[in-house]
Amino acid sequence: MHRTDIANPAYFHKVVDCQWACPAHTPVPEYIRLIAQGRYSDAYMINWVSNVFPGVLGRTCDRPCEPACRRGRVEENNGEHPEPVAICRLKRVAADMKDDVTGRMPKLAPKNGKRVACIGAGPASLTVARDLAPLGYDVTVFDGEAKAGGFIRTQIPRFRLPEEVIDEETGYILNLGVHFRNNQRVESMKSLMSQGYDAIFVGCGAPRGRNLEIPGRTEAALHIHIGIDWLASVSFGHVKTIGKRVIVLGGGNTAMDCCRSARRLGGTDVKVGSEGYPPELSTLVEGVTPLNDATGRKLKFLRRIPFDPMTNSTTWGLRAYQDSPTASSWGGQNVFDVYTKSEGTGLDGTKYRDWN
Ligand code: SF4
Repeated sequence: MHRTDIANPAYFHKVVDCQWACPAHTPVPEYIRLIAQGRYSDAYMINWVSNVFPGVLGRTCDRPCEPACRRGRVEENNGEHPEPVAICRLKRVAADMKDDVTGRMPKLAPKNGKRVACIGAGPASLTVARDLAPLGYDVTVFDGEAKAGGFIRTQIPRFRLPEEVIDEETGYILNLGVHFRNNQRVESMKSLMSQGYDAIFVGCGAPRGRNLEIPGRTEAALHIHIGIDWLASVSFGHVKTIGKRVIVLGGGNTAMDCCRSARRLGGTDVKVGSEGYPPELSTLVEGVTPLNDATGRKLKFLRRIPFDPMTNSTTWGLRAYQDSPTASSWGGQNVFDVYTKSEGTGLDGTKYRDWN
């Protein structure tokens, strides 16, 4: 048998579940121990090395580390509601309680003569810049917006992530001698490549939401928004109000941010429905009701299915799978159509059919 090689990170990855579950393999136990000792700056820097944006992630991470946390399994034996350690929020504690850490940022090695261009100033490009600039690379980051951050800045509502946190953490990276070409959208790779860069990193992300081509979509276009675009419009101040009755489709962070933003912009009747119906999500947002509760009907799923199975149409629509074949819409929102468990004709003449 070989001795355990504790210098090998893979050893910790295998035995420390939360660290293994974290996409950045953040050494969770280490930084939480430091927080327990009141060493917030040390805890912050441990995080910074791993995940680059601890203040941002401490507020917004999906935290896959927490379902993996052993504490949840220990408490499962002791009670009905096992809870993991609040790993994500502890990251925020470190970020908020730390001292000035500017002096702890990496020292820059002498320039090595290599030039690197990063397209986009979101987390991917900034991470590349953070890792390469201290090694002596001459890094230039291009972005079409005025400030760095990408999706961090444009798609996450301010009430969840204050702008000063973004400024601070993008600033740590840009201050490593990184050239930031703001308001410069890269339109031609050929032109960029002709500028003599040794490497180009394309970190422009995929800032596109998913559209739904369903009956009424075109006619009601002014009242139907794609989540991430709408959030960006709110973030930039182009959108300041919304109608009182709002339906949000989706169950992820974007949907929840849309719910919260809609509530703040004047929505008094905000309902949410999602594929797969995870009911716990809709309880996260105060004042937002899940579609099934609001209607009293047993909504099982919202799924995208072939719009017209009778004609094998390839258009995709949104329909619901319900126990009862008698409903054709929720709350008067005719963008929905109902698909039921059994074949039949609804009260309004809609043909229903089992999608299986
Ligand atoms: S909160 Fe996110 S970044 Fe932090 S340890 Fe968990 S998964 Fe990793």
